[in-house]
Order: sequence, then structure tokens, then C-alpha cells
Amino acid sequence: MTEIPDITSPRELAALFKYYGLQPRRHLGQNFLIDANIVRKIVTAANIEKGDQVVEVGPGVGALTFKLASSGANLLVLEIDRGLIRLLKDLFQQWTNISIIEQDALKVNWNELVDSIRTGNEGIKLISNLPYNISGPFMYSLFYEGFPFKSVVLMFQKEVAHRLVAVPGDNDYGSLSVLCGYYTDAKKLFDVSKNVFYPRPKVGSAVLKLLPRERELNDYEEELLWTIVRGLFQQRRKTVLSSMRRLFPWSRSRLKDLLEEALVKPAARPEELDVKQFAKLTRITYNCFSK
Ligand code: SAM
Repeated sequence: MTEIPDITSPRELAALFKYYGLQPRRHLGQNFLIDANIVRKIVTAANIEKGDQVVEVGPGVGALTFKLASSGANLLVLEIDRGLIRLLKDLFQQWTNISIIEQDALKVNWNELVDSIRTGNEGIKLISNLPYNISGPFMYSLFYEGFPFKSVVLMFQKEVAHRLVAVPGDNDYGSLSVLCGYYTDAKKLFDVSKNVFYPRPKVGSAVLKLLPRERELNDYEEELLWTIVRGLFQQRRKTVLSSMRRLFPWSRSRLKDLLEEALVKPAARPEELDVKQFAKLTRITYNCFSK
């Protein structure tokens, strides 16, 4: 087995970068973990067992990858940076439980990927220290595909982590929070200081664990959920009634009846509605189409 340097040591990291002629690339959100304790905490939170199928997005130089693979998981890692791919393939060349793929994580069909690596009925675990610049679109893509994972542990910039777990009344409650609450049970596990990264980012991070939730709506209703959630939050200062009028072809009085049935006040603002209310409003709106 190749000797793996201590990837979380800044000195080793600098030596690796120099050897491969690499520099951290800001536009790819490259902030590498340089704290073995945080790496351990993240991997422990993911509860990895021998033989688990695990996907890691953005392995970087492999800080989490090394720990995950050492615990006996079968790993598929997706990295966009070709220079890092070269480095990873060298470092892990003798590890038979790691597949390294050059791939933009925003262009993945998650259901296909999950099906291609699933063995038996076991679900897939996903883990990542996400590049800050893709975290919003990345999460929308997981939700859009129905969140096909058994468990997910992700590190985000604090602001995005808070948006994901926000509830009505929080300043950062929005469409990402509603969709996150609809598809998952999400919990913030711990904050991470900006001092444990190289280069040091401007803001701190937080780690979330997300488990899939049983879905209340069918596929067609879910399409409509997205339309309603995004449509309402696009104009978050407007009342629910006025945004619904913009979205649907029905008269004001029909929409008022629909909202009444969904127990939503016409003058409410979208940030007052919780996930259950959005789901109920969606189902009733959907039924209205078939009447
Ligand atoms: N996992 C490493 C760690 O914790 O030290 C690196 C994390 S760093 C915050 C994010 C990583 O994601 C970088 O390696 C970056 O090149 C990669 N990345 C950025 N955009 C990506 C994308 N669209 N698809 C896949 N990987 C991406």
C-alpha cells in the first residue's frame, strides 16, 4: 500500500502542491481541511461501516477520502479538478476500494449513479466538504432527484447550513429550507472554525446530517410543490394569494377557496408557511386541476 502522507498537515499539503505544480483554486471553492480532529468528527458522524457504498464529492487532496477508505467503505469520489485527480490517483493507486472519477458534481444524474453502485438493498451514503460556490445548486439537484441516499453528511458555509435547516420565522427561511424539510430530516451537528482550512475562508462552516424522509406527495404533485415553493419565495414580500394568482389561471375567489381549504390565510407571506402547509397547499392545488 502506498505510504499516504499526513494530508491534514499544512506542510505536507504544501509539499504535495509543489510536487504536482498545483495551487488552491478559489473559483472551485478549494479550501482544504488541515485538522485531523475535524476530519475524524465528520467521518464519525457519517457512521461508516466496512462494506458501505459511499460517494464523496470534491475529495480535494483526500483528507476525508483517506479516513473513509481506511474504515473499509467502498468509495466513489467525484472531483472536477484534473490536477487533483492526477494527485489522488497516485496517492491511492493501490487502494482497491476507491474509484476516482473526473466529474462535475452539478452534472450528475444521482438516481443513475446510485443504481450503478448499489449492491443488494443497501443504500448509498454521501459525504462532502462541499465547495461553497456550488452548495445551493448542488442541494437543489439532490432534492430534485428525490434525495436517493441512505444518509448524507455535508459541510457547508454557515450561511447555507442555516438556510437549509431554517424554520418559519427565521430570517433565512426560504425555498431551500422548505425543500430540505420536505425531502429530509436535517440536523446541524457542529460548527467548524475557519481556521481549520487552507486557504482560510472568510466565514466559518457547519456540518449537517440529512436523512431521507418519507415523501407525502406523488411525483406529479412534487413537480407542483417546486412550482409553488419557488414561485411564492420569488416574491417573498407578496401575499400568498397574489403570488398564487400569478402562478395559476384561476379566479381570485377560486384561489381564496383553495387557500381556505389548505388552511392558509390569503394575506399570509410565504415565510409563514411550514413544510406541512406547503405540502397540503400543493395537494389541494393539484386536485383543483383535475376538478
Ligand atoms: N474534501 C477536501 C477537504 O475536505 O479537504 C476538499 C474540499 S474543497 C472545500 C472542495 C472540493 O470540491 C475541491 O477539491 C474542488 O476542486 C472540488 N469541486 C469544486 N467544484 C466541483 C464540482 N462542480 N464537482 C466536483 N468537485 C468539485
